[in-house]
Amino acid sequence: MYKKIMKKIVSIIAPCYNEEGNINDFYDELNKQLTPLAYDFEFVFVNDGSKDQTLNILKTLARSDNRIKVVDFSKNFGKEAAILAGLDYASGEAAIIIDADLQMPVTKIKDLIELWQEGNKLVLTYKNERKKGLKSFLATKYYDVYNYLSDDKIIKNALDFQIMDREVIDVICSMRERSRFFKGITGFIGYNYKMIPIEINDRTSGESKFGGFKTLFNYAFRSFAIHSDIPLKIALKIGTVISMVGFIYMLYIFFKTLIKGVDVSGYASLIIVMLFMFGIVLLILGIMGYYIALIYNEVKQRPNYIVNEVIVKDEKGE
Ligand code: UDP
Ligand code: MG
Repeated sequence: MYKKIMKKIVSIIAPCYNEEGNINDFYDELNKQLTPLAYDFEFVFVNDGSKDQTLNILKTLARSDNRIKVVDFSKNFGKEAAILAGLDYASGEAAIIIDADLQMPVTKIKDLIELWQEGNKLVLTYKNERKKGLKSFLATKYYDVYNYLSDDKIIKNALDFQIMDREVIDVICSMRERSRFFKGITGFIGYNYKMIPIEINDRTSGESKFGGFKTLFNYAFRSFAIHSDIPLKIALKIGTVISMVGFIYMLYIFFKTLIKGVDVSGYASLIIVMLFMFGIVLLILGIMGYYIALIYNEVKQRPNYIVNEVIVKDEKGE
């Protein structure tokens, strides 16, 4: 029987937020690296509410290349939402997620596709570092603690730059949770994966949106809370230990008073115990409050992102 020979389509997904200085070079680099490959490509650029010329540049590109789909968000929804939108709009048999700032080596796309063709449904990348900075040291330790404590394992040091098979794309798109943490999701779904080292380039234009320690700390706590109930369990354990100690101390005071009579001193110890206890109670309340906020965010059932328009070139030219 005659079978039409068609090239496989691979979608390239790039979240873009204020990347006006990078998009054109990124697109040129994609063309340079991908044209020799025996696949058809589709480019899904998600404009995550950029405040600069990113959208206009993307529109101009889309006018000249019908492989480009521009998904324009109504405002900034964050990288996680942009990745999800990219996967939602991708029609390829596999999708590659890559930053639009040229920090990820476009040359490695070829290797990712090869590994996918060998049957790996998920191929991830990690940063190949010779000298480690404080941030990456802390990040590694964070993953160690996370994986030690949490039931859902996170894939240590994995970057968002990766290729996934259609099967994995569909699974991820079916998970519509509002508080998203991509690394946690790829860890949760549990497919076998391969990991390859890559060299990360310095940013040549624009600036990182995840730079500061404060952002990273918030990110760390949030991602932990999203994928694990460990903080609540720790709160429970602290409560149990303190009430046991409290009970023993209560018995001690009770019998001491019976035997020795009322002891008037003890102001200092009373204040210390009270302050300590209030501190613990407030801490535990805070942790519970954080989870309530996550639940609140989830039950509102708001969409993960809102699309302003999707720009693709049609036969007539736009
Ligand atoms: N990004 C995005 N929305 C955001 C923040 C970032 O789509 O709210 C995109 C950004 O344009 C880039 C990628 O996510 O393509 C990675 O962001 P960035 O370079 O700031 O992160 P870093 O490389 O410093 O981790
Ligand atoms: Mg970057």
